[in-house]
Amino acid sequence: MAIPHTFTFSQSSLGDYQACARRFQLRYLERLAWPAPQSADAAEGERRQRLGQAFHQLVRRHQAGLPAASLTPLAAADPELAGWWAAYLASPFAFPEAGVRRAELTLSTPLAGYRLEAQYDLLAGTPGGEWLIVDWKTERRRPARTWLARRLQTTVCRHVLALAGAALNGGRPIAPERIAMAYWFAAFPLQPERFGYDAAACARDGEALAGLIGAIAAQGDGPWPQTADERACRCCAYRSFCARPVALATYDELEAAGEAEALSSPVLDLEQVEEIAF
Ligand code: SF4
Repeated sequence: MAIPHTFTFSQSSLGDYQACARRFQLRYLERLAWPAPQSADAAEGERRQRLGQAFHQLVRRHQAGLPAASLTPLAAADPELAGWWAAYLASPFAFPEAGVRRAELTLSTPLAGYRLEAQYDLLAGTPGGEWLIVDWKTERRRPARTWLARRLQTTVCRHVLALAGAALNGGRPIAPERIAMAYWFAAFPLQPERFGYDAAACARDGEALAGLIGAIAAQGDGPWPQTADERACRCCAYRSFCARPVALATYDELEAAGEAEALSSPVLDLEQVEEIAF
């Protein structure tokens, strides 16, 4: 099944391919909705997803210019959310010194014959000056720096900004050395993780991403290979399509595997529901 050149890759889709080629094919090419629960404790998972979404929405409004005082009553609806919100307001990331602040922004760039997009929680910078990417994390665990450094999100966000940030930067590309990315953890607000960037890393990332996209585009017809690592199946909503009799991960395990963020609110297509084994 050839991938049309109008296809847009993202950190999520590339991450899915790295986890399992078959998952990528089912989700992005066959576009199957997933009928299986996302975690063994689905109600708790949904509660925490809603909380994370509420936090992101508060921050987006704040970064768009709404005063914190008008948003604080909304955060008071949940004690955990109120704590995250207070920690955010006390952090330097709530009020970055920047001429331009754009929240919930998507940028894309041509790469390897396709498009690659990156989604940003916050981009803050000054044309001709420094640019900071901030990603808000509401998981209960704080990942290790080495894990974050390897993450496709870290690679894709910085690389796409270097290639596609000119419109924010007075019409000139943003030099990789001017780009930094910070992960801020609501549950660990005093321990953000920051990554710089430079031209050599940008070139390496470009080659690696083009290679990954090329490998995906070279996949043939028929079902793509299923991962040999069945731990990935525990976090995968397509288990029912693959007859993988693995125990469903808990939401904590999804977070630890970096899979919780990818959960969205898919529209369930009942015609696609097959027998679910879990
Ligand atoms: S259940 Fe396993 S083999 Fe099937 S798509 Fe998901 S990760 Fe791949």
